[in-house]
Amino acid sequence: MYRFLFVFILLSCCSTCQHKHTALFVSKIKPLVSDSRTQAKLVHPPNDCADKMNYIPDAAYPDHFPMRYLRVNFHIMRKGDGQGHFNEEEGVAYVQDMMKLAEGKLNSNNPMNLPPGNNIPPPLTKYRYVLTPDPARSNDDGIYFHNDDELYYMLRSGPHKNIFDRKVYDKYGIQKDTVMNIFIMADHADSLASKTYKSHWYGVGLGAFNKVSSGYSRMKKARAKNDISRLNYHRYSACNNLNHEIGHSLGLQHTWRGNDGCEDTPNNPNCWNEKDPNKSNCATLASNNVMDYNTYNNAWSPCQVGLVHQKFSYLGAKNRASTRKYLLPVWCEFNSKRTISISDQIIWNGARDLEGNIEIQKGGELTIRCRVSMPPSGKITVFPGGRLILDGGILENACGEKWLGIELADGTNPDLAVVAIGTPVIKDVVHEVSVE
Ligand SMILES: [Zn+2]
Repeated sequence: MYRFLFVFILLSCCSTCQHKHTALFVSKIKPLVSDSRTQAKLVHPPNDCADKMNYIPDAAYPDHFPMRYLRVNFHIMRKGDGQGHFNEEEGVAYVQDMMKLAEGKLNSNNPMNLPPGNNIPPPLTKYRYVLTPDPARSNDDGIYFHNDDELYYMLRSGPHKNIFDRKVYDKYGIQKDTVMNIFIMADHADSLASKTYKSHWYGVGLGAFNKVSSGYSRMKKARAKNDISRLNYHRYSACNNLNHEIGHSLGLQHTWRGNDGCEDTPNNPNCWNEKDPNKSNCATLASNNVMDYNTYNNAWSPCQVGLVHQKFSYLGAKNRASTRKYLLPVWCEFNSKRTISISDQIIWNGARDLEGNIEIQKGGELTIRCRVSMPPSGKITVFPGGRLILDGGILENACGEKWLGIELADGTNPDLAVVAIGTPVIKDVVHEVSVE
């Protein structure tokens, strides 16, 4: 009797159609041992769910890798008298513009300039920023203004150096457990008083929060001269700076020293552009990577994207640096528009947090080797000629709710449709499933 899948037979009736259909939810899954066609699948190296290279979105199947939304808010810091930096109207416009430009760069990731001749296609970045107001505050837009003579500025050197100081976050951080706080710091008044002072784009990404310089004084000058190209240069510098510092907070490091944990980001002279007179070999070794200091900042490498998404996927002792808590948990709500249809041979070596159902069509085969969170009331349906292979891994709901289970469509051969390798875990499920 163990040669067969045990199934629940549930009769249900669609409200929108006349016929009854039969839904069969799998209750027991047998191991993949008797099927000679797939013996080869049993002989493979163990899967490492923590390997960042398992988290690079596959451009051929963009819908298999749901977009991640990083919750952010912004704090514009000003002197105690509120002068010398953005007023509220300017500040809101600045943040909105910077967000829009930063999203544009995340949308249109470019191939890496390096190594010379590189032809690796750029991956989809699959993360975006979402401005997140605090629901506990009335009329909140997620952009805050603070006047504070002690904490309004950021300095990288000198007696008042404070770039790594956390005080501004400790004092003004909002929704710290769920939102990444970004502080837009003013120039120090003494710096502005110096005729030779030129503000620079810099900042720091410290995980829970970032501090970025605003370039306010330079933008103001460009605006006063009606120098549109200079103004645009500063606008893009602000967005590049934002993407760079958030990159640090998401676990990325500078690439130019070559020890950033990614083999596809070669060390380089860290040229500002191809004509940088202060570095050597810039004509051929200018990087466009977001984690170098350059004028482009328009390329995320496959490994960098994988690293960001690996950290988005886990919490827990081994992943203390996880940034998952800053994500908008869109996977906790069922979305009928997010059904994933599988009609090819697909293997998921990395974790997924899905928002819709999975349908495995004729000729399709989905192998799950890591954690997959199904949305509340979501289900996996296997159609005749399709197959689900649970190769270890975990099927769960990551929101403390229940998903429906694994369903067999009419005419699906239960013996072939769902099989296990090793001991997959299936939990948080209405129609419980055990593995034999
Ligand atoms: Zn940096």
